[in-house]
Amino acid sequence: MDREVRELGGARMGAAHKDRAHAAGWGARDAHCQVPLEDPREKHPKPPFQKQSQPWPGLACKMEPRPDHGETSYRGSGRLQGRRALITGGDSGMGRAAAIAFAREGADVAINYYPTEEPDAAEVIDLIEAAGRRGVAIPGDLRDEAFCQTLVQQTVKALGGLDIVVCNAGRQQTHDSILDITSEDFDATMKTNIYAPFWILKAALPHLAPGSAIIATTSEQAYDPSPDLYDYAQTKAATMNYVKSLSKQLASKGIRVNGVAPGPIWTALQVSGGASMEKLETFGGHTPMGRPGQPAELASLYVQFAAADASYATGQIYGSSGGAGQP
Ligand code: NAD
Ligand code: MG
Repeated sequence: MDREVRELGGARMGAAHKDRAHAAGWGARDAHCQVPLEDPREKHPKPPFQKQSQPWPGLACKMEPRPDHGETSYRGSGRLQGRRALITGGDSGMGRAAAIAFAREGADVAINYYPTEEPDAAEVIDLIEAAGRRGVAIPGDLRDEAFCQTLVQQTVKALGGLDIVVCNAGRQQTHDSILDITSEDFDATMKTNIYAPFWILKAALPHLAPGSAIIATTSEQAYDPSPDLYDYAQTKAATMNYVKSLSKQLASKGIRVNGVAPGPIWTALQVSGGASMEKLETFGGHTPMGRPGQPAELASLYVQFAAADASYATGQIYGSSGGAGQP
């Protein structure tokens, strides 16, 4: 028995427990493979950021600096071995970070994205395949009910089933005044953020066995809405709410439903109409951490909700917002 296990277990750890500790890999934590401490304040870029703007929905590969989705950093440990996942908005941002992490944890992953996002999506498929897993690209517009149904059917066919559904895609467009929001704008935001998860989850449910997991991306905007995000913020409140409602409904089927609530994260959504230019230049600077988050910093939350060892977590929202926002 190595030194650390002895210290952790002390005299109270019986022989059977010691054997289990070894089997669980505690023994691997010896002195020469310690993870170095990293200062979270210095880990990623801080404002000011350079002015930049892209047509909606934007491409991560054209952002300056490029977001970190964990491409070179995420290390898996088999937590999702053999799972089959569908992630909307899997080309960039939080969805891409989740896709990379899921694949490195052993899952096959289908990603949906808007057709103009092919350059970002192609990179994600390469990364999934580099992890030795199956990557399936299914472009299409989530504002269309028939497409949402096809998306689920194509995923089930390609992956041979479905165990994890991540409803992550979202539309955010900043408007100073409610008077500037057209009915078409309002409708597009509601369709993308509220209707699409409704359609996708209805289509997915018959395929989900006990042990499956549904994960939604909500936002700090659900709890503390910004004045320029009148329409978007209410969709995020609705998302937080459906997590709470659906988790109660599906607990009896053994299906868990949870949500991730990011704070300000450096993604394509922000440079393609999601934030004003003034907001973008100082993006994330108001948080106690003094910088925006990177998608990579949220990947482990999606993994945690998807993993079998989180079996008592349902109806939960986990936040990650640099010290600002709620929950
Ligand atoms: P992102 O732009 O990288 O991802 C959003 C994705 O949504 C796009 O890549 C696109 O593929 C998809 N999408 C939007 N409309 C679509 C449509 N009609 N059809 C198909 N796909 C469509 O940005 P992100 O910030 O990673 O966004 C992911 C989620 O995180 C969203 O739900 C967003 O609301 C949420 N969120 C983001 C922040 C932030 O600061 N970036 C904060 C809180 C919550
Ligand atoms: Mg994108």
